[in-house]
Amino acid sequence: MSFCNQLSLINPAVSLIFAGCFLVVWRQLRSQHLLAFGVSFALYAVAVAIQVLSPPSDAVWTTLVAAPFYIGSTMLIACGLLWRAHVKSTTALAACSGVAIVEFSLLAYFHFAVPDLTARIYVHNIGAALIFGIALAQLGGLRRGSVADRAIYWVFVAFTVNLGLRLLLSTSAPPNTDECGRAFSSYWTYFQVGQTLFNVFFSLVLLGSEIHALIERIQHERDTDALTRLHNRRSFEEIARETISRANGGVPGLILVDLDFFKLINDNHGHASGDAILVEFARIVRRVVGARGIAGRLGGEEFAVLLPRTTGEEAIHIAEEIRATLERARFETLPDSPRVTASFGVAVWQPPESLDALMSRADGLLYTAKRSGRNRVHHAHEQTSMQEVGSERLP
Ligand code: GH3
Ligand code: MG
Ligand code: MG
Repeated sequence: MSFCNQLSLINPAVSLIFAGCFLVVWRQLRSQHLLAFGVSFALYAVAVAIQVLSPPSDAVWTTLVAAPFYIGSTMLIACGLLWRAHVKSTTALAACSGVAIVEFSLLAYFHFAVPDLTARIYVHNIGAALIFGIALAQLGGLRRGSVADRAIYWVFVAFTVNLGLRLLLSTSAPPNTDECGRAFSSYWTYFQVGQTLFNVFFSLVLLGSEIHALIERIQHERDTDALTRLHNRRSFEEIARETISRANGGVPGLILVDLDFFKLINDNHGHASGDAILVEFARIVRRVVGARGIAGRLGGEEFAVLLPRTTGEEAIHIAEEIRATLERARFETLPDSPRVTASFGVAVWQPPESLDALMSRADGLLYTAKRSGRNRVHHAHEQTSMQEVGSERLP
């Protein structure tokens, strides 16, 4: 094998390595698009290897045998990108398949009926550009997506442009003209080097976006309470600590909540009913707090709400709204609809106190709410007057 051919094998070798990477990640995550990318890179490696290893004069191999692998690879990249973006367009898939069939038929035509190498290069590139163009038309949403989405979109655009540049070169410098055979003709060299660089870059962007998404998913699970899907204690405290450290201008407020007599509910109605109440309570908290704050489950039947910029009045008002909504709620899992209530401690950050100090003040106020009869909001607004807001004060 000539040195030039050995060099040309770098491209399929790199593609095979990335195919392996995608297939390994696919085995773990089982996402359809990862399988498509893996198989696509493998097909591409086979196609290039066929072209490099077959005799230069044997156009059947270089054109007709390699073509299905090239076309399959192009189709799978397009499908993989559509699946990754959750675009379900049967029209786009049908159009891509149509282009693939026409492309192969024309390649056969320009091989058997009217042998013409330049025409075959045109057909090959225009076919690939059309398949990518159809996919690109469906992927416009990626431009407004995450950094990874945008990177994938623009690299994909770059590749489609690259196909055009390859066409220009193929017409300006016909292949198979120098002493090294096709490997050093300008088209073939541009094709090999450009394609290898593109493959590496595109694969890295695709793999990078998968790793980024995976890390985000793992972080989300690490930070989320499995039952209520609120922030867990670790995540809540991390956010609260950061909010306090950055507090300048706005004052953070903290609401601590503990469901009343929850052990009795569990004992009388079963643990599953208790779980259903925790889930419903989390829903109430999320709905009442909305974008005004961050809610977390600190453990068991204890919850917390952080209001990054608030006033004592607003914090008390939100706590009271949660309390009143829970008191009114009816739970299907509890026969005779007994009421579920909760007690609240509300504290507003006093610089330069730490999160632990703020939590412990709010906890003290919650404890006072419990001792004062439960189902009430207790707070130390403006530090001087201890006040209570309870159900008996509702109109
Ligand atoms: P108090 O009004 O003083 O807060 O009384 P309480 O019964 O709510 O408090 P206590 O600390 O005695 O009991 C808390 C109960 O919460 C005990 C435990 O079984 C229950 N619990 C903790 N985590 C879960 C959970 O994930 N699911 C269910 N169903 N129950 C839980
Ligand atoms: Mg408790
Ligand atoms: Mg309790």
